[in-house]
Formats: sequence, structure tokens, C-alpha cells
Amino acid sequence: MRLIALREEVCRANRALLDEGLVTWTSGNVSGRDPETGLIVIKPSGLTFADLTPANMVIVDAECTLVEGDLGPSSDTASHAYVYRHRPDVMGVVHTHSNYATAFAAVGRGIPACLTAIADEFGCDIPCAPYARIGGQDIGRTIVEHIGPSLAVLMRQHGVFTIGTSVQKALKAAVMVEDIAKTVWLALQIGDIERLPEDEIAANYERYNTRYGTMDASRNE
Ligand SMILES: [Zn+2]
Repeated sequence: MRLIALREEVCRANRALLDEGLVTWTSGNVSGRDPETGLIVIKPSGLTFADLTPANMVIVDAECTLVEGDLGPSSDTASHAYVYRHRPDVMGVVHTHSNYATAFAAVGRGIPACLTAIADEFGCDIPCAPYARIGGQDIGRTIVEHIGPSLAVLMRQHGVFTIGTSVQKALKAAVMVEDIAKTVWLALQIGDIERLPEDEIAANYERYNTRYGTMDASRNE
């Protein structure tokens, strides 16, 4: 069996979607790309998250041809592969229908960078991309065209896709975008939201991504 470590990482990340409350039943999926071979490990189609094991993960190549697996790959596999082909920096892709973020997708609204948490994690607005049909690579093309510098994009009338330079970073972006969407949704019940100034977005992003978590406690929250 190939890519044992990546199988374990992708399986663990898929199960984390359930633990984090981002998915239900069989919706949602995580994939990861092996930096040496370029092969993609992805969740199989139609299994509930509780039934996922490293051994039943599916491996495809960059063109989405099955390399290893007894089950069919997720129905979003062609779109994951499209993202990997067009974004050499991306090593992990996550898809969910997490409720609050998908509520914004349902009405076709992106999430402006109106909180320091959005500036920290994403450094920009979270865009909402146009509707794209499930099954082929249309979703992948739409992600690449609309995600910009963000790690997350809302797909109109569908859900959320996140990317990262690792499976773990794409997973974190999926958790954070749902948390942010929940806060912004709550805020919209009591008033208007206001986008942070561009220089504040940049300053927060820079602090969080270069200094946060270092030994210099004065710089940490
Ligand atoms: Zn979906």
C-alpha cells in the first residue's frame, strides 16, 4: 500500500471535520498531495466519516486517474485535482457544507475582513464564487479563478472550499472560516459590519503569521 503517512494524515483530517462539527453524514471531504510523487490521497465516495480508515482512502494521480483504492474517490476529486494542477503551492484541500459559512454561500455573499480574526487567518475578504456544477472540474476551475490570496472561498449555493500548504493548514482554514462566519452572522443580527482598513488587515496578518507564537510574549495575545 502506497503513501501510508499521507493516508493516515488525510484520514485523520477527514474525521476531524466530523469532530469539529463541520460535516454531517457523507458530505465534505479532505485531500492531500504527496510532494514527491504528486499523487493525491482523498476520501472515498459514499462512506460515513466514522467508517473511514487510512486503508480505504483512495489515491489518484494529477489527472484524476485511479492509482489505488477499492472504493470510488469522492465526487469532488476532479475539482481537487484541478486545484492541485493549477496551484503548485497547495498541498491540502478541504470541502465542507459547514452551516454558517454555507449560509453566506446560499445568499451569494462573501465575508468582508471585518474582524481581526479574519485579517489574522486570511489577510483578506473571504470571496464568494459563482455557482459551479458538481461532478467534473468546474468547481476546481471556479476555486482557482476566485479564491485570490485567500485560503477559503465560498461556492455560491453549495459550500466552502479551503486550501493550504499542508493538509493541516487547509483543515485549520475550514475550522476558522466557519467560526468567523458564525460570528459575522451573529453580528449582522444586531447591526452593520464594517471592513477593517487595509493597513490594519495587513498589520494583523503580518503579526499573526510572522510573530504570533514566538517567545516574545509581548507580541502574543
Ligand atoms: Zn459539496
